[in-house]
Order: sequence, then structure tokens, then C-alpha cells
Amino acid sequence: MALPIVAIIGRPNVGKSTFVNRLAGDQTAIVHDEPGVTRDRTYRPAFWSDKEFVVVDTGGLVFNDDTEFLPLIRQQAMVALAEACAAIFVVDGQTGPNPADEEVASWLRQQPVPVLLAVNKCESPDHGIIQASEFWELGLGEPYPISAIHGSGTGDLLDELIKHIPEVVETEENTEIKIAIIGRPNVGKSSLLNSFVGEERAIVSPISGTTRDTIDTVIEHEGQTYRLIDTAGIRKKKHIEYGTEFFSINRAFKAIRRADVVLLVLDALDGVTEQDQKLAGRIIDEGRACVIVVNKWDAVEKDSYTIYDYEKSLEARLHFTEWASTIFVSAVTGQRVTKILELVDKAAESHKRRVTTSVVNEVLTDAVSWHSPPTTRGGRQGKIYYGTQVSSQPPTFALFVNEAKRFNDNYRRYIERQFRKQLGFDGTPIRILWRSKKVRDMEVGSVNRATRV
Ligand code: GDP
Ligand code: GDP
Repeated sequence: MALPIVAIIGRPNVGKSTFVNRLAGDQTAIVHDEPGVTRDRTYRPAFWSDKEFVVVDTGGLVFNDDTEFLPLIRQQAMVALAEACAAIFVVDGQTGPNPADEEVASWLRQQPVPVLLAVNKCESPDHGIIQASEFWELGLGEPYPISAIHGSGTGDLLDELIKHIPEVVETEENTEIKIAIIGRPNVGKSSLLNSFVGEERAIVSPISGTTRDTIDTVIEHEGQTYRLIDTAGIRKKKHIEYGTEFFSINRAFKAIRRADVVLLVLDALDGVTEQDQKLAGRIIDEGRACVIVVNKWDAVEKDSYTIYDYEKSLEARLHFTEWASTIFVSAVTGQRVTKILELVDKAAESHKRRVTTSVVNEVLTDAVSWHSPPTTRGGRQGKIYYGTQVSSQPPTFALFVNEAKRFNDNYRRYIERQFRKQLGFDGTPIRILWRSKKVRDMEVGSVNRATRV
């Protein structure tokens, strides 16, 4: 798992689950497919300020219990702690310190993980601090009075917590960019492929895939490796006697699915056809990045308006891919062919980009203040609580709102435009999920309030 983990530890009934719910809202639990004890713990994504992390509730931890569950629960806590960057030990401020707390505390003091002490149920403004102060004796440093139910005190605790949470570093395990060259028959796909391979050093060509039928070609350009997907399909199609059209479109769909970036090749002499639109639609549905390559540019009679007119007609016919860059090339003369790879690099970068939750919320706050969400006829207004990027490739954002259906298409498009305007994402589709959320549950990171519990 990429995100840092915070373990929540404490006896049963001190309010651990209430606290975890407050931290994580209703963000869905991450399901782990691991055998053994890890199965019984739930991991839930949360964030505070600009730090993202995962909270894991360890279940009620007791050391003086002689039931058969003790070893298991203890083991749970051990495992959780082993993978955590910090732990929060939750105790009950209303009952005061008890011997079981002391046992857990003395165990925690030996662990190589920073531990914060949260004294829960301290909602009383008069007694809260006094209740908490009794827990100094546990030897775990400053007790933080909090109320998991009301939210008070949790801000100070989390401010301290995030000092112990490392920045998430994207691991560059695979820098190869997978490219699919897609287009109708005769637009120049295999000529383009030859042009790539001729220009660049083909490291290994061809590379066998799982079957002899799918063969990729790997090329290198200025230190970057590109895998051209299913180059056999691009080359071989001419020898296929049966149903060329059906065959190639299925192959194209398969290649799109495997790609990071799709080159949608158009024939400059034909303009944009219905089949091109269909392929573009598929690229979006699969959430792939895309560069539109207008080939055979050498064969077009040009004056100074040609490119401009051409771009206009592309925009009109492929308006749903307005985020994609377009390049005019000739596979035959090699004109601008290597430039395609520069656009591929950019698109691939956008495609796997991650934006922190605080930046997402800055953009949302700004967007909402320029243009308020729509109000229904009944006078009820849409409200965006907060948003967060839930995945990349393609970048996908979840926006938590009071009621998703109050946000009409116009407003949704406006928000998408703002995301693009403020954050870039050239070359990739982005997805925005609108999620209804009850206000009662919604306390962390509201866009319409300060980012405080
Ligand atoms: P867990 O067993 O540690 O996960 O505890 P729960 O979250 O299930 O809470 C146990 C009980 O404590 C429930 O009845 C909660 O309503 C109550 N509780 C939790 N947080 C607070 C709080 O901040 N103040 C008060 N007064 N009660 C709380
Ligand atoms: P594919 O079916 O998409 O793989 O297309 P091919 O690469 O086989 O090209 C189909 C035809 O278009 C061939 O006759 C090519 O010579 C021609 N062609 C491909 N690229 C260009 C180009 O950039 N300019 C011109 N004028 N013709 C091209």
C-alpha cells in the first residue's frame, strides 16, 4: 500500500470507531486480499491538511483478558503497529485511567513508533482538560482532550499527528510508456510505425507477447522507452482474407485497453469520419490518454489558412476530445514524426498525475466562489463539501456533495473546466464522481468551511 498508515489503538468502548468515522468520513474502506489476521482490520483513507494517510482500527485491545481472543487481538495490534508510521492511543476520559490502559501504555512505550494519546469523551468545556490531564501518568507525553462525537480537540491532535506522517513519494517502478497506434485501415498506421522504428533505435523488435499474434515493438527515444502495442496487428492486417474491418476494430479495442497513450491516426485527406469518432469515444470510455495524429499532411494542398480550418473542423467533429493535442505529420516524409513522442510524454505525465487533496480543495473553493452551485426550484442549493483524487490513469476525483442530483450537467462541465484550467491535465481524460453525503457525517475538510474537524 502506498499511503502511510496510522494505527488506532485502545480498549473496547473508548470510542475508536467513532473517531475513525470522524477521520475518514464515509470514504470507503480499502479491502485487502491478504490471508490471515490482516483480513480483520479495515483500512480507511483519510487526510488532514495536505497529508494523506490510511487509518486502521485495530479492534479492542486488552491485555488482561483471558478469553480465547486475546492472542488474536494482540497480534492484530502488533501487525497494525508494525506497518504504521504513527499510532493514536485512545482512552476514555470519563472513566479515567485504568490498569488496562497502563498495560497497553507500557507496551506502547516500547514500540518504535510515535504514539499520540487521545483522551476521548472530553466534550465538556470545563472538565475536558482536567479529565485529560489525569493521563499524563501513562508516560506517553501530552494527553489530547478530544470528543470523537462532537469533533472538539481533534484538530490539535491531527496537527500533531501529521508531523509524523511522511510525504507520499510516487514510486517510479515502470517508466515505459505503452502506445497504441489506432485508426481506420489505410490512414497510415504501419507507415507511422515504420517511421518510428526507422528513426529510433528499436531495442528489441519484435518482442513476443503471450501469443505469437500479439507482438509489441519497443523503441527508445532520448532516454525514454516506448512500447508500441500489437505491432503485428498493424503490419499483418493486409494478409487477412476474412472480415478485415471487424478484425481490426476488435484488435484496436484490445490495444486501447493495454495502452497508456493512444495515437488516434486520421487521414488528412478524409477528415474526421464516423469511425474515427467511434474510436475516439472508445478511448475516452477506457480512460486512456490520447494524441490525435493527422497523417498524410504532405498530400494536402495548403495555404496559410489550411491548418486553422482543419483544426476548426476537428474541434467540431471531435469536440469530446478537446483536451487531446493534435499534430499534423507525414509518415512518408517523416515530417514531425518524432514530435509525436513529445506529445506522448506530456499526455502520459498528465495521465498518471496525482494532485493533493488540499490543492483539489483550493480549486473547488475557488470555482464555487466564482460560480455557486445551482439551486433547485424548491430553493435547495447544491453544496460541495470537499473533493479528493481517488485514482490516476486516468485522474479520477470524487466530490462529496449534499445531493449529487442538484448538480446539473452545466455545472458539472464548469467544474471539469475549472479542474483543467487550474490543474492542466492536457492529453488525458479526467473523471469526476459526484457522491452524495449526509451533512451529519461530513466533518473533515469541508470546502465551505475551514479545513478543520
Ligand atoms: P470502540 O469500541 O472503541 O470502537 O468505541 P465506539 O466508537 O463504538 O464507542 C463506544 C461508545 O462510546 C459509544 O456508545 C459511543 O457513542 C461513545 N462515544 C464515542 N465517542 C464519544 C465521545 O466523544 N463522547 C461521548 N460522550 N461518548 C462517546
Ligand atoms: P494502415 O492501413 O493504416 O497501416 O496504412 P498504411 O501505412 O498501410 O498506409 C496506407 C497508404 O497510405 C499507403 O499507400 C501509404 O503509402 C500511404 N501513406 C501512409 N502515410 C502517408 C503519408 O504520410 N503521406 C502520404 N502521401 N501517403 C501516406
